[in-house]
Formats: sequence, structure tokens, C-alpha cells
Amino acid sequence: MTAGNPPLTWPYGRQTIGEADVAAVVEALHADLLTCGPQVAAFEGELAAWLGAPHVTVCSNGTAALHLAYAALGLGAGDELITTPITFSATASAAYQVGLTVRFADVDPITGNLDPASVARLIGPRTRAIVPVHLAGLPVDLDAITALARDAGLLLIEDACHALGATYHGRRVASGYADAAVLSFHPVKHITTGEGGAVVFADAAHQRRAQRLRHHGIERDPAAWSQPSPGPWYHEVVEQGFNYRLPDLLCALGRAQLARLADFLGARAAIAATYRAAIADRFGAAADAAVRPPALFDDRMSAYHLFAVAIDFAGRRLDRGRLMNALAARGVGTQVHYIPLTLQPFHRQRAGAHAAEPRPGADAYYARTLSLPMYPGLDDRGVHAVVDALATCITELSR
Ligand SMILES: *Cc1c(COP(=O)(O)O)cnc(C)c1O
Repeated sequence: MTAGNPPLTWPYGRQTIGEADVAAVVEALHADLLTCGPQVAAFEGELAAWLGAPHVTVCSNGTAALHLAYAALGLGAGDELITTPITFSATASAAYQVGLTVRFADVDPITGNLDPASVARLIGPRTRAIVPVHLAGLPVDLDAITALARDAGLLLIEDACHALGATYHGRRVASGYADAAVLSFHPVKHITTGEGGAVVFADAAHQRRAQRLRHHGIERDPAAWSQPSPGPWYHEVVEQGFNYRLPDLLCALGRAQLARLADFLGARAAIAATYRAAIADRFGAAADAAVRPPALFDDRMSAYHLFAVAIDFAGRRLDRGRLMNALAARGVGTQVHYIPLTLQPFHRQRAGAHAAEPRPGADAYYARTLSLPMYPGLDDRGVHAVVDALATCITELSR
């Protein structure tokens, strides 16, 4: 986006807030407890039920959720984690918070999801965990990655921030088969609390630890105290914790949003289908078509956090920045998800020589990807307007 463009008619992502959401927050504002009240456990219970997951801890954002997951699972200095470079910065930076070393595998050039063979090549004596990201909402090759983790005795931690509602072999992601799974409730994600996040744990002990870390490392269970209680005011700080709580106000909003999650997912799926038809109509369905929609799989269903198309910018001598600016001038917001973390100066420096290792899949994915507007409020007219603008701009800029 350049300065001077009109506000975007169709941003790449945005929240869907209705009167029920507003009413839920207003009611929560009138309650006795604005934080640490009953909305927290209610939201956690409803999320667990929706996911079919055993243990859910909500917290202040998805990045905090990653930090809590890594810390509660006991990962720390000297340990290595393997993840994808095609992710948001937080997947790796939350790992640095606990002292982890991050190793970046390669990805499939079409989906941008972790390539299991490249993960296998990075497993070494210090590897403790694999952290797949279900990019754009499409589940990774979970059978292969779960098998790698199981055979090498590694923890599996899903960054499911894009994938609330996605399924693999009919089962929801973040439903408790992984050691931990992380969600975000940022406004562009499937449901929002403004800022917010959650961790799903398979094991109750990890959940208890995360809840303690979320609240200053304070232990309320007398059985876990190291000294006798001097009175009813006593609580014990047993470890370095944080304030990562999600207030009742925001949990109330989350509950109202969760009640409409199935509708939101249905809307995203319908928008994706409309995009696919409009793109086939405009650009054809050939392998070398100017715009290719995301790949479809029989064994998994995307939650369509993003609708990321592939465009051969280099082959067409089309400048991606100019295309994005031309689209923005027509009110169409687009984004690139993501600049590989191995190309970000900060992460590259942390990774040292490892950053420069070849990752042809990540390079190919990054070179072609462009995220088009995708959010439940985007109507058919909007989808067609976006595809029309894309066709016009590509023709103009390819001249
Ligand atoms: C959104 C997101 C996060 C971080 O979530 P916040 O709530 O913004 O802190 C982490 N990982 C991925 C892949 C994300 O998309």
C-alpha cells in the first residue's frame, strides 16, 4: 500500500462483529469481575468442547500462547526446535524467549507447508520438538510429521493460528493429538477477542503448568507449596511467570464469536469456492495459468484463514510490489505471507550459518505467493471485483 491510496474496500482480512458480540461485551462490563472471573473458564470449556480437545488455556495473544506452550512443555536452553521459515515471526521468537535454538526446515513449493523429508534431515541429538504451521489454514502432512516426532521421541507442537476449524482425515486440528496446539484470536483470525490466544494440551499436567505461568507463576494448590501457610492470604510464587491472562471482557467476546464459528467457516469455504470458479473463468485452469488457486487435497480441509494464490511473477516479468499498489489503488488489499524468516535480518542472525542453507521450496513459494482478501463479510460481488481487478492489473502491468 502506498501513501495516498483510498482506504481499502476489501482488506486482505478483517473481523466480523455483530450485535450479539457487542451485547456480550456490554454485559461483561457490568459484571463484578472484569478479569479472573467466570468468563475465562466458560470460554475455555466451550473452546474445548468445540475442538473436541481435552485441555484449553486461553491467554493474552497467540504469541503468549506459543511462549506458554514451549515453557509448559519444559523446552529451554540447549534444546532445538524444528519449524518452517514460512511463518509469522512469533513461531520462532517465542522459542527464543525460553532459550530454544530454532532450525528452519524447507517447505512444499505449492502449499508452503513443512516438507517432512527436510524436517527428518534436521533431526539431531538436541532436537526436542517439531512445530508445524498449518499455513493459510491447510493442515500440514500430519501423518508423516507425527510419525517423525513419534519415532524420534520429539514433542509435536502445532502452530494452528491459521487453522481453527481445519480438518485432517476428518479430525479437527488442535484437538488434542499433539502435545500442544496454539491458536490466535487476532482480528484477522477465525474468531477474535481483539487480542487473544489459546493453548490446547494433551496432558493435564502441562495445562496446569501453563495456567500457573499465565498468572505470575503463582501456585494456589497447598500441596505444591514449599512452606506452611501463615494464613488465608497465602499464595506461593514458585517460578518465573508472566501476566498472560485474557480478561473476562474479551472471553465474553470470544464466547459470542465461537457461537458463530461454524457460520464463519462456512462463509470462508463458500468464498474460496467462488474465488476458484472466478479464477478458472478469468485465467483458465492450466498449470501455467497466470493465477493459480491454492491446491485441494482429499484427506484435509482448509479453514481458509488466507486465500493465497500463486503467480509466476518472475516468469511473467510482473513486479509484485507494483501489482499490490495497483490493486490497493482499486481498493483491493493483498499481503505476502510470509517473507521467509531465514531472510529476516534478526532471525537470520539468530540462525547463523544455518540460515543460508538452501531451501528451494521456501524460495519458490515466497516468489509466487499473494494473499487475496478473505473474511466472512466478503460477498460475491466483492470476490468478483477482486478477481476482475487482478485480471486488469496483471494485463496492464505485464505490457
Ligand atoms: C497470528 C499468528 C501468531 C501470533 O498470534 P498473535 O495473537 O498475533 O500474537 C503466531 N503464529 C502464526 C502463524 C500466526 O498467524
